Amino acid sequence: MHVEQLLKDKGRDVVAVQPHRTLAEAIKTLSDRRIGAVVVMGADGALVGILSERDIIRALGAHGSAALNNAVSSVMTAKVVTCRPQTSVDELMEIMTTGRFRHVPVVEDGRVSGIVSIGDVVKFRVAAIEAESQAMRDYIAMA
Ligand code: AMP
Repeated sequence: MHVEQLLKDKGRDVVAVQPHRTLAEAIKTLSDRRIGAVVVMGADGALVGILSERDIIRALGAHGSAALNNAVSSVMTAKVVTCRPQTSVDELMEIMTTGRFRHVPVVEDGRVSGIVSIGDVVKFRVAAIEAESQAMRDYIAMA
């Protein structure tokens, strides 16, 4: 199974903020959209970073509430690891485990076309295990 299938289930909605926005503005976006990370995009739509709730906690821990006025660009992770729609779910899990992060933007033809989280992967794995177990029960009932 591939990332493309995950995107079919969850949609391709990508929530982004611009790098010059303040941390307070980014927090409002995360809270309004009930998500844990946003991709950071320049005005041209180019991916320039990713900002997750962990970055925000770190900034608040280091600078206190003054960090809320800092630019997203000063807090985000600029070196973003991405995947493609053709990336397998197994490979995606490996990427998240190795990188120790829970969000991976999906890039297609140089543009971000979706974002997958560890929650999407877990949902997918649980559904697959349940389907497998149901198939096994059906098989036993037929025997
Ligand atoms: P997360 O587990 O996704 O909340 O992120 C933990 C840390 O990894 C934060 O510093 C994020 O900015 C960073 N991070 C999250 N996703 C990615 C990614 N796809 N590539 C690189 N860094 C990331």
